[in-house]
Amino acid sequence: GTPILDVKQLRTYFYLDDEKVAKAVDDVSFAIRPGETVAIVGESGSGKSMTANSVMGLIGKPGKIVEGKIELNGRELTGLTEKQMTSIRGKEMAMIFQEPMTALNPVFTVGNQIIEMLRKHKKMSKKLAREQAIHLLEVVGISRPDQIVDEYPHRLSGGMRQRVMIAIAISCQPKLLIADEPTTALDVTIQAQILALLEDMRKKMDMSILMITHDLGVVSDYADRVIVMYGGQVVEQSTTKELLRNTKHPYTQGLLDSMPDLSTNVDRLKTVAGTVPAATEFPEGCRFASRCPFVMEKCVATNPELIEVGHGHQVRCHLYGEETL
Ligand code: SF4
Ligand code: MG
Repeated sequence: GTPILDVKQLRTYFYLDDEKVAKAVDDVSFAIRPGETVAIVGESGSGKSMTANSVMGLIGKPGKIVEGKIELNGRELTGLTEKQMTSIRGKEMAMIFQEPMTALNPVFTVGNQIIEMLRKHKKMSKKLAREQAIHLLEVVGISRPDQIVDEYPHRLSGGMRQRVMIAIAISCQPKLLIADEPTTALDVTIQAQILALLEDMRKKMDMSILMITHDLGVVSDYADRVIVMYGGQVVEQSTTKELLRNTKHPYTQGLLDSMPDLSTNVDRLKTVAGTVPAATEFPEGCRFASRCPFVMEKCVATNPELIEVGHGHQVRCHLYGEETL
C-alpha cells in the first residue's frame, strides 16, 4: 500500500563556523508502510538521529535539509513553515526520546503536559482533556493514574517518565511514532516493558514505528525491516529476517559478529573496531573503508552505490555488483 512515510534522497547538512560542512545525512531513502516497525541501526555519528530529526522538522541552524523529499501520508513536509510543522508534530507524527526528562517540562504536572497536547490539536474542554489524560496514563500502564496525573516529572522513575512520554506521544493518535533510543537510559527489565508497551500501542492504534537504536536485540525482536546507516548513508536495508540470515554488508556483519548471542539479553551493541569518520571529512571512496576487512583498491577510489541484491534487500558495497543479481 501507500507508505505512511516516504523519504527520498534526503540530505541534511550542517554549515559550521570554520566553513566545514558536516554531511550528517547524505542521500538517505526509505519508506515505512502502515503498521510497520522499521529500525534504523548504527553507531553514534551514523546519522540516524539526524534522519529522525529531519523527518520531524527539528533541524535548526546551522543545519539544513539541502535536498530530498519527506512525504507523510502523501504530504510533502520539506518546505513547510514552522507553524505548519507545529500543527503536524504531535498530531500526525510524534517522537519520544532517550531521556524523557529533557523532553518533559519540569514545571508542569504530567497531566498538564498531556492536556496541553490534547488541547493544542483537538477542540476539547479542560475537563474532558483531564479525563482523557488519566485514561492515557492508564493505557500506558501507570498505576494510580488519577494521582500520577498531578505529579511533576522529577517525582517519577525513569521508566514511568518514558511511559508519560508515550502517553503524550499517542494522545492524538498519530499514524507515525518515532522512537529515538527510547530505552537506552533504562535498566534491562524496564527496557523490555517499554518495548512491549510500544509494540502493544502500535497494534492497538494501527501506528507505524520508526525505531532508532544501536541495539540489535531490539531490532531482531521488534522490527519488520532494518536500515543500517553508516557515515550518513544507508549501507544495507532489508527485512529483519533477511538481514539476519543473509547479511551482506561488512559493517552489518561486524555489528552482528560483535554480539555474543542474539538470543541472550544483550542490551548494547558492541562496536566494530575503529570509529566512524567525521561527517566533515568523509573520504571519496567507501566511508567504511578504513575499518573494513575486505577493503579493495576500488573501495578507496569510489563510494559504492546502494544496489538491489535481492527482493527488497539493498546494499552499498563493492563486493556486490550486477553479477550477483
Ligand atoms: Fe568494504 Fe569495499 Fe564494501 Fe566498503 S565497498 S564495505 S571497503 S568491501
Ligand atoms: Mg542519537
